[in-house]
Amino acid sequence: MEQLIYPWVLPVLDRLPRPAKALPRALLLTGRPGLGKRATALFLVQGLLCETQRDELNACGKCASCRLYRVGNHPDLRMLEVGQEEDGPASGAADEDTAPSKKVSRQISVERVRTLTDFVTITSHRGGAKVVCIVPAEAMHPSAANAVLKILEEPPGDTYFVLVSHQPERLLPTIRSRCFHLAFTLPDAGPALDWLKGQGIERGELALAQGGYAPLAAMDRVGDEAFWSQRKALLDTLAASGFDPLHAADCAEDIDGAVVSTLLSQCRRPPVLRMPCSRNSSRPERWRWPSSCP
Ligand SMILES: [Zn+2]
Repeated sequence: MEQLIYPWVLPVLDRLPRPAKALPRALLLTGRPGLGKRATALFLVQGLLCETQRDELNACGKCASCRLYRVGNHPDLRMLEVGQEEDGPASGAADEDTAPSKKVSRQISVERVRTLTDFVTITSHRGGAKVVCIVPAEAMHPSAANAVLKILEEPPGDTYFVLVSHQPERLLPTIRSRCFHLAFTLPDAGPALDWLKGQGIERGELALAQGGYAPLAAMDRVGDEAFWSQRKALLDTLAASGFDPLHAADCAEDIDGAVVSTLLSQCRRPPVLRMPCSRNSSRPERWRWPSSCP
């Protein structure tokens, strides 16, 4: 059974106790998308459900519990994700930040969270730990978040919560305060580039920059033809001689704002822009460059 853990995540996991059963009852994995939080959450879920005595966090991959997880039918796991069907089964899919391809739901409803009330109170089917995994936690409806908070206030002894959040500031402070916080930061460029190279990415530096230095986001960028096309159009406009900001704005009108934002956020210093010469320009005075025109 594949237990996906990315190399840059290993230092993050060093903050956790061993074995898996010694983990805090409520974990909150935070960081920007593309850093492997969801895959790490599922790695920890597998370790919690595994029935083989181990000294580490990973699962054995061979016991009955691991087999049930692998087929997405473990009775002691509840996965609450955006993109699931309302009553969809637990899933063992391990793609980062990618919801199962079923009926798309953009919010985790209170009805789904209410099913946890029975789940956390009944005895474990397998006699081991029960696990609730929520991805991303900020997608919970406010009523759903309050229902989860109520459970966390009186946590059942055999139930673990693993929450993933791209925007933890959107969570209830009372939920955050009841969780062990595991922050994912941007990895060093070296390990990230090594990993991208191992995935067959040739221009790893460029891909990494366009992915906001999050390796999995960089992988997504590589195959995003629309992004590269719009990026080129924007750069061509900015690099054109006699740069005119109003013309550039017209050219950029059809470019996704996220592409513009991505490019501008990568500027280490403000770009030097040539403004139209005051003697030849028909633009209003405020657009003219007063001192350097011949
Ligand atoms: Zn196992």
